[in-house]
Amino acid sequence: MKKNDMLVHKNKLKSINELFNLESSFHIIAGPCAVESIEQMEQTAQLLAKNNLKFIRGGAYKPRTSPYDFQGLGLEGLKILDHVRKKYGLIVVSEILDPRDLETAIDYVDIIQIGSRNMHSYSLLKEVGQTKYPVLLKRGMMATIEEFLNAAEYIVSNGNTNVILCERGIRTFENSTRNTLDISCIAIIKKETSLPIIADLSHSLGRTDIVFPILKAVEAVGADGAMLELHPEPEKALSDQSQQLNHNEFTAIIKRFNVK
Ligand code: PEP
Ligand code: MN
Repeated sequence: MKKNDMLVHKNKLKSINELFNLESSFHIIAGPCAVESIEQMEQTAQLLAKNNLKFIRGGAYKPRTSPYDFQGLGLEGLKILDHVRKKYGLIVVSEILDPRDLETAIDYVDIIQIGSRNMHSYSLLKEVGQTKYPVLLKRGMMATIEEFLNAAEYIVSNGNTNVILCERGIRTFENSTRNTLDISCIAIIKKETSLPIIADLSHSLGRTDIVFPILKAVEAVGADGAMLELHPEPEKALSDQSQQLNHNEFTAIIKRFNVK
Protein backbone atom coordinates (compact mmCIF):
# COMPACT_ATOMS: atom_id res chain seq x y z
CA MET A 1 0.00 0.00 0.00
CA LYS A 2 1.22 3.51 -0.80
CA LYS A 3 1.80 5.77 2.19
CA ASN A 4 -0.84 8.23 0.93
CA ASP A 5 -3.50 5.51 1.08
CA MET A 6 -2.82 4.61 4.70
CA LEU A 7 -5.38 5.53 7.35
CA VAL A 8 -2.71 7.27 9.40
CA HIS A 9 -2.01 9.62 6.49
CA LYS A 10 -2.65 13.32 6.95
CA ASN A 11 -6.32 14.24 7.19
CA LYS A 12 -7.53 10.65 6.96
CA LEU A 13 -8.32 10.38 10.67
CA LYS A 14 -11.07 12.52 12.08
CA SER A 15 -10.70 11.94 15.81
CA ILE A 16 -7.50 11.54 17.76
CA ASN A 17 -8.50 11.14 21.36
CA GLU A 18 -10.03 12.97 24.24
CA LEU A 19 -7.14 12.54 26.62
CA PHE A 20 -4.59 14.01 24.30
CA ASN A 21 -5.99 17.36 23.32
CA LEU A 22 -3.94 18.66 20.43
CA GLU A 23 -5.18 22.20 21.03
CA SER A 24 -3.28 22.43 24.31
CA SER A 25 0.16 22.66 22.91
CA PHE A 26 2.71 20.51 24.75
CA HIS A 27 2.11 17.50 27.00
CA ILE A 28 4.61 16.18 29.53
CA ILE A 29 4.30 12.51 30.52
CA ALA A 30 6.58 11.92 33.48
CA GLY A 31 7.26 9.34 36.14
CA PRO A 32 9.67 6.61 37.03
CA CYS A 33 10.92 3.92 34.73
CA ALA A 34 9.28 1.29 36.93
CA VAL A 35 6.65 1.37 39.64
CA GLU A 36 8.60 0.25 42.71
CA SER A 37 6.48 1.17 45.71
CA ILE A 38 3.45 3.15 46.80
CA GLU A 39 5.66 5.74 48.53
CA GLN A 40 7.66 6.32 45.34
CA MET A 41 4.49 6.82 43.28
CA GLU A 42 2.91 9.08 45.91
CA GLN A 43 6.00 11.30 45.83
CA THR A 44 5.93 11.34 42.03
CA ALA A 45 2.23 12.17 41.89
CA GLN A 46 2.66 15.01 44.38
CA LEU A 47 5.48 16.47 42.32
CA LEU A 48 3.41 16.32 39.13
CA ALA A 49 0.35 17.82 40.82
CA LYS A 50 2.50 20.66 42.21
CA ASN A 51 3.65 21.44 38.68
CA ASN A 52 0.13 21.19 37.22
CA LEU A 53 1.05 18.20 35.08
CA LYS A 54 -1.56 15.58 34.38
CA PHE A 55 0.13 12.53 32.87
CA ILE A 56 2.01 10.02 35.01
CA ARG A 57 4.02 7.08 33.70
CA GLY A 58 5.48 4.02 35.41
CA GLY A 59 6.10 0.48 34.23
CA ALA A 60 4.40 -2.41 36.01
CA TYR A 61 5.60 -4.91 33.41
CA LYS A 62 9.19 -4.17 32.49
CA PRO A 63 10.81 -5.38 29.26
CA ARG A 64 14.33 -5.98 30.63
CA THR A 65 17.28 -7.05 28.52
CA SER A 66 18.30 -9.59 31.15
CA PRO A 67 15.74 -12.04 32.59
CA TYR A 68 17.55 -11.72 35.94
CA ASP A 69 16.83 -7.98 36.25
CA PHE A 70 13.77 -6.51 38.01
CA GLN A 71 10.75 -7.38 35.88
CA GLY A 72 8.25 -5.00 37.48
CA LEU A 73 5.61 -5.46 40.16
CA GLY A 74 2.96 -6.64 37.68
CA LEU A 75 -0.61 -6.44 39.00
CA GLU A 76 0.56 -4.87 42.28
CA GLY A 77 2.18 -2.10 40.22
CA LEU A 78 -1.05 -1.53 38.29
CA LYS A 79 -2.94 -1.20 41.57
CA ILE A 80 -0.46 1.43 42.80
CA LEU A 81 -0.95 3.37 39.54
CA ASP A 82 -4.71 3.19 39.97
CA HIS A 83 -4.39 4.46 43.55
CA VAL A 84 -2.42 7.58 42.53
CA ARG A 85 -4.56 8.31 39.50
CA LYS A 86 -7.68 8.35 41.66
CA LYS A 87 -6.11 10.28 44.54
CA TYR A 88 -4.42 12.94 42.38
CA GLY A 89 -6.67 12.92 39.30
CA LEU A 90 -3.84 11.90 36.98
CA ILE A 91 -3.89 10.14 33.62
CA VAL A 92 -1.83 6.95 33.76
CA VAL A 93 0.40 5.65 30.97
CA SER A 94 1.80 2.15 31.44
CA GLU A 95 3.20 -0.57 29.23
CA ILE A 96 1.95 -4.06 28.64
CA LEU A 97 4.10 -6.68 27.01
CA ASP A 98 1.62 -9.50 26.61
CA PRO A 99 -1.82 -9.31 24.92
CA ARG A 100 -3.15 -11.50 27.76
CA ASP A 101 -2.55 -8.63 30.22
CA LEU A 102 -4.66 -6.13 28.27
CA GLU A 103 -7.97 -7.00 29.88
CA THR A 104 -6.54 -6.57 33.37
CA ALA A 105 -4.49 -3.46 32.59
CA ILE A 106 -7.40 -1.43 31.20
CA ASP A 107 -9.00 -1.35 34.63
CA TYR A 108 -5.98 0.48 36.06
CA VAL A 109 -4.41 2.38 33.17
CA ASP A 110 -5.70 5.17 30.88
CA ILE A 111 -3.19 4.90 28.04
CA ILE A 112 -1.68 1.54 27.11
CA GLN A 113 1.96 1.79 26.10
CA ILE A 114 3.45 -0.53 23.51
CA GLY A 115 7.20 -0.35 23.94
CA SER A 116 10.01 -0.24 21.45
CA ARG A 117 10.74 -3.95 21.72
CA ASN A 118 7.12 -4.77 20.91
CA MET A 119 6.52 -2.40 18.01
CA HIS A 120 6.65 -5.45 15.75
CA SER A 121 4.41 -7.63 17.96
CA TYR A 122 1.56 -7.82 15.52
CA SER A 123 -0.75 -9.82 17.76
CA LEU A 124 -0.41 -7.12 20.45
CA LEU A 125 -1.01 -4.36 17.89
CA LYS A 126 -4.12 -6.12 16.59
CA GLU A 127 -5.41 -6.75 20.09
CA VAL A 128 -5.19 -3.08 21.14
CA GLY A 129 -6.52 -2.14 17.68
CA GLN A 130 -9.72 -3.99 18.44
CA THR A 131 -10.36 -1.81 21.50
CA LYS A 132 -11.00 1.91 21.80
CA TYR A 133 -8.37 2.42 24.49
CA PRO A 134 -5.76 5.10 23.84
CA VAL A 135 -2.43 3.59 22.86
CA LEU A 136 1.03 5.11 23.07
CA LEU A 137 3.10 3.34 20.43
CA LYS A 138 6.85 3.66 20.65
CA ARG A 139 9.12 3.42 17.64
CA GLY A 140 11.15 0.23 17.48
CA MET A 141 14.82 0.94 18.13
CA MET A 142 15.67 -0.61 14.75
CA ALA A 143 12.55 0.48 12.86
CA THR A 144 12.36 2.85 9.90
CA ILE A 145 9.72 5.58 9.93
CA GLU A 146 7.74 3.57 7.39
CA GLU A 147 7.81 0.47 9.60
CA PHE A 148 6.76 2.65 12.54
CA LEU A 149 3.80 4.01 10.58
CA ASN A 150 2.83 0.52 9.46
CA ALA A 151 2.76 -0.59 13.10
CA ALA A 152 0.40 2.33 13.83
CA GLU A 153 -1.64 1.33 10.79
CA TYR A 154 -2.15 -2.13 12.36
CA ILE A 155 -3.86 -0.48 15.32
CA VAL A 156 -5.83 2.08 13.32
CA SER A 157 -6.98 -0.35 10.61
CA ASN A 158 -8.38 -2.61 13.31
CA GLY A 159 -10.63 0.26 14.36
CA ASN A 160 -8.75 2.15 17.06
CA THR A 161 -7.76 5.68 16.02
CA ASN A 162 -6.65 6.68 19.53
CA VAL A 163 -2.96 6.37 18.83
CA ILE A 164 -0.15 8.59 20.08
CA LEU A 165 3.25 7.92 18.54
CA CYS A 166 6.51 8.18 20.46
CA GLU A 167 9.97 8.69 18.98
CA ARG A 168 12.39 7.15 21.51
CA GLY A 169 15.64 7.06 19.59
CA ILE A 170 17.12 4.50 17.24
CA ARG A 171 20.31 2.45 17.41
CA THR A 172 23.25 3.98 15.60
CA PHE A 173 27.04 3.81 16.01
CA GLU A 174 26.93 6.90 18.27
CA ASN A 175 27.49 5.98 21.88
CA SER A 176 27.48 9.29 23.72
CA THR A 177 23.73 8.91 24.03
CA ARG A 178 21.88 5.64 24.71
CA ASN A 179 20.08 5.88 21.36
CA THR A 180 20.01 8.57 18.67
CA LEU A 181 16.89 10.70 18.91
CA ASP A 182 15.60 11.07 15.37
CA ILE A 183 14.40 14.67 15.26
CA SER A 184 13.49 14.39 11.57
CA CYS A 185 11.09 11.55 12.37
CA ILE A 186 8.99 14.00 14.39
CA ALA A 187 8.85 16.56 11.57
CA ILE A 188 8.05 13.89 8.97
CA ILE A 189 5.29 12.36 11.06
CA LYS A 190 3.77 15.79 11.72
CA LYS A 191 3.88 16.51 7.99
CA GLU A 192 2.56 13.17 6.75
CA THR A 193 0.15 11.87 9.36
CA SER A 194 -2.76 12.97 11.50
CA LEU A 195 -1.37 11.32 14.63
CA PRO A 196 0.16 13.13 17.61
CA ILE A 197 3.80 12.36 18.30
CA ILE A 198 5.83 12.86 21.45
CA ALA A 199 9.54 12.38 22.12
CA ASP A 200 10.92 10.18 24.90
CA LEU A 201 13.99 12.06 26.06
CA SER A 202 14.99 9.53 28.70
CA HIS A 203 15.28 6.34 26.65
CA SER A 204 16.76 8.23 23.72
CA LEU A 205 19.38 10.21 25.61
CA GLY A 206 20.09 7.80 28.47
CA ARG A 207 21.41 10.78 30.45
CA THR A 208 19.95 13.74 32.28
CA ASP A 209 22.37 16.59 31.59
CA ILE A 210 21.13 17.52 28.10
CA VAL A 211 17.41 17.02 28.63
CA PHE A 212 16.58 20.73 28.64
CA PRO A 213 18.11 21.72 25.28
CA ILE A 214 16.70 18.61 23.59
CA LEU A 215 13.28 19.35 25.07
CA LYS A 216 13.45 22.77 23.40
CA ALA A 217 14.52 21.09 20.17
CA VAL A 218 11.62 18.62 20.05
CA GLU A 219 9.17 21.41 20.83
CA ALA A 220 10.66 23.49 18.02
CA VAL A 221 10.29 20.65 15.54
CA GLY A 222 6.59 20.26 16.32
CA ALA A 223 6.33 17.44 18.87
CA ASP A 224 3.07 17.30 20.81
CA GLY A 225 4.85 16.46 24.01
CA ALA A 226 7.68 14.67 25.74
CA MET A 227 8.16 11.71 28.03
CA LEU A 228 10.59 12.10 30.93
CA GLU A 229 11.66 9.56 33.53
CA LEU A 230 12.10 10.76 37.08
CA HIS A 231 12.73 9.10 40.43
CA PRO A 232 12.91 10.36 44.02
CA GLU A 233 16.36 8.73 44.30
CA PRO A 234 17.63 7.83 40.81
CA GLU A 235 20.80 6.21 42.18
CA LYS A 236 18.62 3.65 44.01
CA ALA A 237 16.23 3.00 41.10
CA LEU A 238 15.68 -0.64 40.15
CA SER A 239 16.06 0.18 36.44
CA ASP A 240 17.46 2.93 34.18
CA GLN A 241 19.29 4.75 36.98
CA SER A 242 21.43 6.99 34.80
CA GLN A 243 18.57 8.54 32.83
CA GLN A 244 16.06 9.31 35.57
CA LEU A 245 15.88 12.92 36.70
CA ASN A 246 15.74 13.60 40.41
CA HIS A 247 12.88 15.77 41.62
CA ASN A 248 14.92 18.97 41.81
CA GLU A 249 16.28 18.51 38.31
CA PHE A 250 12.80 17.79 36.99
CA THR A 251 11.28 20.85 38.68
CA ALA A 252 14.05 23.10 37.33
CA ILE A 253 13.49 21.82 33.78
CA ILE A 254 9.72 22.24 33.93
CA LYS A 255 9.96 25.75 35.37
CA ARG A 256 12.51 26.80 32.77
CA PHE A 257 10.59 25.17 29.95
CA ASN A 258 7.39 26.88 31.02
CA VAL A 259 4.91 24.21 29.88
CA LYS A 260 1.85 25.64 28.22
C1 PEP B 1 9.69 2.49 28.83
O1 PEP B 1 9.16 3.53 28.41
O2 PEP B 1 9.51 2.09 29.99
C2 PEP B 1 10.55 1.69 27.95
C3 PEP B 1 10.96 0.47 28.28
O3 PEP B 1 10.90 2.33 26.83
P1 PEP B 1 11.32 1.74 25.39
O4 PEP B 1 10.27 0.74 25.01
O5 PEP B 1 11.30 2.95 24.52
O6 PEP B 1 12.68 1.14 25.53
MN1 MN C 1 13.07 3.13 31.54
